[in-house]
Amino acid sequence: MRLLHGRPLAERLNARSRERSDALNGRGIRPTLAVLSVGIDPAANTYLERLVRGGKAVGIAVRDVSLKANAAEPDVIDELDRASRDRTLHGVLLLTPLPGKLDEGHLVDHIAPQKDVEGVNPYNVGLLLDGRPRFVPSTAEAIVELLKFHQIRLAGTNVVVVGRSTVVGRPAAALLLNEDATVTVAHKRTDDVPALTRRAAVIVVAVGRAGFLTGDMIAPGATVIDAGINMTPAGMAGDVDADSVASVAGALSPVPGGVGTVTTALLLRNVLTAAEAQTAAG
Ligand code: NAP
Repeated sequence: MRLLHGRPLAERLNARSRERSDALNGRGIRPTLAVLSVGIDPAANTYLERLVRGGKAVGIAVRDVSLKANAAEPDVIDELDRASRDRTLHGVLLLTPLPGKLDEGHLVDHIAPQKDVEGVNPYNVGLLLDGRPRFVPSTAEAIVELLKFHQIRLAGTNVVVVGRSTVVGRPAAALLLNEDATVTVAHKRTDDVPALTRRAAVIVVAVGRAGFLTGDMIAPGATVIDAGINMTPAGMAGDVDADSVASVAGALSPVPGGVGTVTTALLLRNVLTAAEAQTAAG
């Protein structure tokens, strides 16, 4: 069984990003990502720290815009509109989860599509569905880039994606379809998930439940991508029961060290793409 490590891909992506940010610096441009947060969420904070660290390594500045936990929707919209207009900011990201009363679906409309490096604005979602992705949620992109990096055949392949969230399952399914895979999406209301996963050559799991996919749910030799991040008493775990799956699968992405290793590198790459597009001559 082959482990589909993310680190070599992340290192390659970051090396290229460093070159691109150096080129922007050479033109007097400092690529900058604005991260807007509302209140304090520990998981969101860890993500922010990861972005600051990752950004520093490749030459991208991260500007932290924090609003109080009791900020009203118009306040958040004002900040998003302001960041979208600010020519010194090239990417805008809204940290989630948001305090309960705020409607994320409504707020992302206020991130300018050309700065929407997380691919959450409906315009970018539409481009993805139209088969011409520009900015795509980075976990979904990491899933597909990891498969391609490890030369897993996708065109014509039966792929099952378990999970249909806006940030992982749906965009991953759309990207896989763009790669000419034959894609089935499973969710909580799916009649018989194991019957589907047993027929798939590639299985992507993004359900948010540790140990969800077990060895008896897959075909011998299948490739399994584990997008899950679950904090358990034993530490970080994916959505795959790695022990039982490893004895049946042909390839498996580890947690940690797989999909999650690549997501920040892709998000930062999007900031550079945004900065280059916004500062192109002419
Ligand atoms: P989410 O919004 O909670 O969505 C979970 C999806 O799984 C839903 O579509 C749900 O179906 C489906 N599901 C849950 N239980 C199921 C079951 N028993 N059978 C079939 N489908 C089931 O979660 P998410 O944000 O997509 O995250 C999924 C996982 O990815 C989590 O472990 C999360 O921590 C991880 N994640 C990783 C990264 C990364 O950088 N690697 C980033 C984001 C998230 P319904 O739609 O029917 O409810």
